[in-house]
Amino acid sequence: MGVYAHFAERFPLAAARERIFFSRCTTIGCGGESVSVSPSDAEEAVAVLNFLKRERIPHAFLGAGANTLLPDGRHEAVLVRSDLLKGLVLSGNTLYAGAGVTGGALIRFALTHGIGGFEPFIGIPMTVGGACVMNAGVRERHLSDVALRVLAVRGGRIESFSPETCRFDEKESIFQEGIFVVGVLLRAERAPQEIIRKRCGEFLARRASLPKGHSMGCVFVNPKEMGAGQLIDRCGLKGMRCGGAFVSDKHANFIINEGTSSADVAALIDGVKAEVRKKTGIVLREEVRRLTFSADP
Ligand SMILES: Cc1cc2nc3c(=O)[nH]c(=O)nc-3n(C[C@H](O)[C@H](O)[C@H](O)COP(=O)(O)OP(=O)(O)OC[C@H]3O[C@@H](n4cnc5c(N)ncnc54)[C@H](O)[C@@H]3O)c2cc1C
Repeated sequence: MGVYAHFAERFPLAAARERIFFSRCTTIGCGGESVSVSPSDAEEAVAVLNFLKRERIPHAFLGAGANTLLPDGRHEAVLVRSDLLKGLVLSGNTLYAGAGVTGGALIRFALTHGIGGFEPFIGIPMTVGGACVMNAGVRERHLSDVALRVLAVRGGRIESFSPETCRFDEKESIFQEGIFVVGVLLRAERAPQEIIRKRCGEFLARRASLPKGHSMGCVFVNPKEMGAGQLIDRCGLKGMRCGGAFVSDKHANFIINEGTSSADVAALIDGVKAEVRKKTGIVLREEVRRLTFSADP
């Protein structure tokens, strides 16, 4: 029996189950397909993950798919999505945001309720869960600067992680070790709406120069020597191409997909890395996540 039938017939809960095309749920816009499931609360997330582990069904986690390359082909596997975990609860100086809350929804909620501090995240394509896993942000502020607690599923039960136990670092956190984030308790700073609006405008303006088109944002973490984009540019790799994927002329740390396969995108990433290493000796670290399905992700 295929995974879809197995999952659809035997899974006892109400969480949505459907086939999902990776080209439609990632910003890079390529890849194959699998089954997806979207738990609607923390208990359901625990039950889904316990079921997948017990049945040894390969699976992986997905938020807004903005930093993620999913494989080509049809997969007998389950993509666990956070898109139904959308709660936003303000209580005094804290704001609970479900893992599936998008960056846009977070900013709109904050503006409506006079909560400042999230403006630096404006324009970053993200869910709160994905941003937590990647410790997303800009120079001034990262998710780790505003996270007070993270609610996540580990070892078959819900755990509350203090910031010290999250192992936040540059584009890193403990949640990359197969721990499913359910929601994040964020610091809520009161601020006048006109100030929030002004700061949002300023941060958004800074993003106007980023390349347009299907991408995953920055592909590589900046090495200590210089910005990864500058390094790739100096190596003469702007415009380097593999099938329909190419290194952006505008920002060399972006790869743009003009209708190609994930294999081409992956080959281009490997090619850029190899060229930079050959020309400078610097080994670039990938920021983007190449997702694979595993019964124990
Ligand atoms: C145009 C563009 C601009 C960008 N600009 C920035 C920027 O300025 N700063 C920045 O930091 N990033 C930037 N990014 C990258 C991206 O937006 C961030 O990394 C963001 O945090 C990804 O969130 P997501 O929900 O899309 O995560 P996804 O891409 O869906 O997932 C990222 C990783 O987290 C895992 N994951 C997702 N949700 C969960 C969950 N609930 N529990 C456990 N694991 C999970 C996935 O398996 C994957 O390993 C940009 C991307 C694009 C396309």
